[in-house]
Amino acid sequence: MNNLIYPWGSVRRFNSWADRCKEKYGTRLQRISLHAGFTCPNRDGTIGIGGCTYCNNKGFSPAYCHTGLSLTQQIDAGLEFLTKRYPRANKFVAYFQAYSNTYSDLPSIKMLYNEALAHEKIMGLAIGTRPDCVDDEKLEYFAQLSAEHFFSIEYGIESCYNESLRRVNRGHTFEVSKSAIERSARLGLHTGAHIIIGLPGETRQQMLDMATILSQLPINTLKVHQLQIVKDTLMAQEYAQTPEKFDLFSPEEYSEFIINFLERLNPAISIERLVGSVPPKFNSLPLWGGIRSESFLEKVEKQMENLNTWQGRLYR
Ligand code: SF4
Repeated sequence: MNNLIYPWGSVRRFNSWADRCKEKYGTRLQRISLHAGFTCPNRDGTIGIGGCTYCNNKGFSPAYCHTGLSLTQQIDAGLEFLTKRYPRANKFVAYFQAYSNTYSDLPSIKMLYNEALAHEKIMGLAIGTRPDCVDDEKLEYFAQLSAEHFFSIEYGIESCYNESLRRVNRGHTFEVSKSAIERSARLGLHTGAHIIIGLPGETRQQMLDMATILSQLPINTLKVHQLQIVKDTLMAQEYAQTPEKFDLFSPEEYSEFIINFLERLNPAISIERLVGSVPPKFNSLPLWGGIRSESFLEKVEKQMENLNTWQGRLYR
């Protein structure tokens, strides 16, 4: 193993967001997932009905994250769960995760965010949303919050290709994502993006090319995960009827793909996640059963060491 220091200032082979947090805050920022009661314009008929074909929010939410509890109660329950699991965790961010967390009028949004920020253990907010659910007024408010708290906004881009977005009934284009990201970055917001690798209809070369396309965007962090076929979704029905239309990755293929992807990715973008794992009861395929993010990352990093490669090696 060489001891080269990479552009992000460490010997790790990729720019890890967890490491950037440890440098800045002395520890990782532990996110507490929340369901604030927002819905989604792609479900309520404003943009579409039925939502994105792969979407089942229950598959991505911990048990305490539901509207039967107030936000404060969800935070308390999340704290109890997380401090048992990560005894050294001491910095917490309220993660507005379920559905589209900017999809309401500004006074309602302020009320919900303020409730979370009022909790003594919460040092900031991470907001997951669709790129078509922000406007200049909301972004200005987020910029004010950023001046006083940790604040990040995370946009579901999912794909850089409009044909893929149409095919999964996403209800917005890549240009909409690009515009929301650029407006957020201009206001100095910590801006994150989320993409899915393996949407039906995309070639593996197209998936790889997303690293180059995303590298041109002013994003601070990136979450990537492989397509998972989640139970009780339109995609699960589609997969059952026409599996030949899907080109799903095995874990081995995906780790190789991810290394190629990271090699092409702008080294300034910090990686928040590289793999997804829905709980087994929501997973309709055994292919990825039980994979843990930490062990996947270790494996990828080991392979990168063996290949003597790193994030951004092929970035131009
Ligand atoms: S994935 Fe997000 S945008 Fe799509 S239907 Fe589900 S909540 Fe709405």
